[in-house]
Amino acid sequence: MEKKVGNSKLILKLGDITKEKVDAIVNAANSRLAGGGGVDGAIHRAGGPKIMEECREIINKIGVLPPGEAVATTAGNLPAKYVIHTVGPIYRGGQKGEENTLRNAYLNSLKLAKQLNVRTIAFPSISTGAYGYPVKDAARVALKAVIEFLEGEPEDFTVVFLLFDEITYAAYKEALEAYLK
Ligand code: ADP
Repeated sequence: MEKKVGNSKLILKLGDITKEKVDAIVNAANSRLAGGGGVDGAIHRAGGPKIMEECREIINKIGVLPPGEAVATTAGNLPAKYVIHTVGPIYRGGQKGEENTLRNAYLNSLKLAKQLNVRTIAFPSISTGAYGYPVKDAARVALKAVIEFLEGEPEDFTVVFLLFDEITYAAYKEALEAYLK
């Protein structure tokens, strides 16, 4: 599914983000940038050890990466140029600022991408795996954040949501259709 937003394109795709040929892919990391399961593990496995080395250097400097913030490394063996590591909220019922943190994770990733001159970027569904954010709610928050960013930008970006399974894809598709109505 593909929609024009401002001068940009927003694409929903089913698949594996590590295979995507874009300028930057976003990693749903943890605050220690320590790697783990899910998309984080897949990115480090496919990208090789260089990405983790850079993550360690960043953590040595900043201590932790707070939820909602983003940093970039190179992308090792991946087809992308950069990996943007962001930390989504751990879902604890929805009244603990999760929505705002999730929104910030998308917006800060996009701002960093723009600073790096990235024009094509792929996101996974941040926080909806191990971090437990209900996917329908997360899809609405994610799409709203990205669409509002793109509407405010004169440049043409391509933002791809790379969704790993049918249920997640369907949730984003429904949320996008509802948003555009
Ligand atoms: P979080 O800890 O932020 O919840 P997870 O990696 O556990 O992150 O899950 C986020 C989403 O990423 C889930 O929908 C999961 O199915 C998906 N995912 C896992 N591997 C990949 C991959 N290779 N490409 C894209 N998405 C993936």
